[in-house]
Amino acid sequence: MGKPLPSGATIAVVGAGIIGASAAFVLAERGYKVTLIDRAEPGRSGPSFGNAGHVVGSAIHPLAEPGIALDGLRMLANPDAPLKIPAAYLGRIAPWLWRFWRSSTGSAYQQSRTALTALNAGAVDETEALFARAGMSEKLKRAPALYLYESEASWRTSLSGWADRDRAGLVSTQVDAAEIRRLEPDLAPIFIHGMLSQEWAIVTDPFEIVTRLVAAAQRLGVALERGRVSAIQPTGERVSLGIDSATRTYDAVLVTAGVWSRDLAKTLEEYLPVEAERGYNVTYSSAPVGIQRPLVLADRGVVATALSPGLRIGGWTELGGINLPPNPARWAKMRAISAAILPGIETAPAVEWMGHRPSMPDSVPVISRSLRHPAVFYAVGHGHYGLSYAAKTARLVGELIGDAADIRLAAHGMIRFNRP
Ligand SMILES: Cc1cc2nc3c(=O)[nH]c(=O)nc-3n(C[C@H](O)[C@H](O)[C@H](O)COP(=O)(O)OP(=O)(O)OC[C@H]3O[C@@H](n4cnc5c(N)ncnc54)[C@H](O)[C@@H]3O)c2cc1C
Repeated sequence: MGKPLPSGATIAVVGAGIIGASAAFVLAERGYKVTLIDRAEPGRSGPSFGNAGHVVGSAIHPLAEPGIALDGLRMLANPDAPLKIPAAYLGRIAPWLWRFWRSSTGSAYQQSRTALTALNAGAVDETEALFARAGMSEKLKRAPALYLYESEASWRTSLSGWADRDRAGLVSTQVDAAEIRRLEPDLAPIFIHGMLSQEWAIVTDPFEIVTRLVAAAQRLGVALERGRVSAIQPTGERVSLGIDSATRTYDAVLVTAGVWSRDLAKTLEEYLPVEAERGYNVTYSSAPVGIQRPLVLADRGVVATALSPGLRIGGWTELGGINLPPNPARWAKMRAISAAILPGIETAPAVEWMGHRPSMPDSVPVISRSLRHPAVFYAVGHGHYGLSYAAKTARLVGELIGDAADIRLAAHGMIRFNRP
């Protein structure tokens, strides 16, 4: 275990997505001299750019739930199901899938549930507080999400999850088909059950949020640098980074490079099993129909949000790594789903996007000190909920680096995947 890093020390944050931008801001608040490094414009190249904009306060279930192996096989056999694995990537993803399956059983599953329930608690409040400190309160709006069910079977399957949320103190309200039509008059009349999940908010535009957080961090003295980090090297008690053709040394380094963090950890001989869950969406900038609140289309693995760039509809999981090109058939499917749920949208022009969610096999993000060097830290693997957990993660990173809160954060440790 390391010692608390004193205020005034230098920290390099590698990766300016939503996690790196939030962490840089909070570390600057704690009095560190922070350099935020990205190979691209902050927020532009990763999933932080085009996600659905939901700040979810009720995401207490890991993706790897008991029975997922069978459900997964069923989904892979169904062209309309939200899970896909390209044949070209099957061999590469097998070790991750093995860990994913092991996480879905027995005490491993319970541990992930407990860690996510704790991470989730107060996530919306902390986002609100971070946005206020960064001078951007107007970019977040509290709005209960409406979960929608098209069949009795999917509604019944969902009930145990709602009971879990209830036990966790998360308030939800059941709505019937008539109430759904009143709440969302533009939706097709195909939904027979709904649930309003109260602990929820949306942002105006995920990319704008990163941009604004980086600007707020710069006002606190954070230096923004453009460059590709290729290696992390211990240099005594300090840490050196290879940045393009230069080498620079810092008192500490925080890796927040999303799914690309795996290769950076490798340069330190550390194993970080973060995989890309590729998600697809379409954004209608001038849709002739609209929605009034964030929607979760439970039967289709898709969410919908009214954002400032337009009405965004998308989701799905394609376990295809970072190098394969996007599959245009997925966008065609998102357009078909959009038309099925919102008649009238068929011919509206839409911008297509695909992003790589950085996902851990147990759905629990790594917020941890490296086991190889006490001045290297990771905040990686937020999967489907990086925007939702960014504010809380930034606080926890501050406590990890500034207060050496390693023991309190044990559930997020690198030790899950590496021997000390
Ligand atoms: C379709 C879709 C919908 C989603 N919807 C939501 C939602 O509604 N709510 C929610 O909470 N989450 C959502 N997510 C998930 C969320 O977008 C991610 O969890 C989050 O953006 C991850 O942020 P990050 O900062 O960890 O990574 P990234 O956004 O990937 O940022 C990593 C940064 O690191 C930089 N980088 C990488 N390698 C290097 C290097 N070697 N040197 C320098 N820089 C480097 C990259 O350029 C990038 O800017 C969604 C994701 C998708 C795909």
